[in-house]
Amino acid sequence: MLHFSCDLCGQPLDDQRYVVRMEIFAAFDPETITEADLDADHLQTVADEIHEMELTGADLDQSNSKSYRFDLCPRCHARYAKDPLGREALRRLNFSKN
Ligand SMILES: [Zn+2]
Repeated sequence: MLHFSCDLCGQPLDDQRYVVRMEIFAAFDPETITEADLDADHLQTVADEIHEMELTGADLDQSNSKSYRFDLCPRCHARYAKDPLGREALRRLNFSKN
């Protein structure tokens, strides 16, 4: 059987386990060539990138998206659900600077 521990506090988890799944990806098409890409320097860069992609076989979609999965205990889940982006913590940080 798999054993989980909370990814925030490290506490071992029993049946009361919460899973947070996050995905980050570009909302624009990274392959779209803009006018800026068309000047000579960029063309070389783009050509290099394409060459590199051909070599590594890297999928552009995959390299531009990131997904995360976290297991949380009920306590950390409650805290996380209130402020998933950590905005409260950020605000406190900004306050303490002044
Ligand atoms: Zn926890």
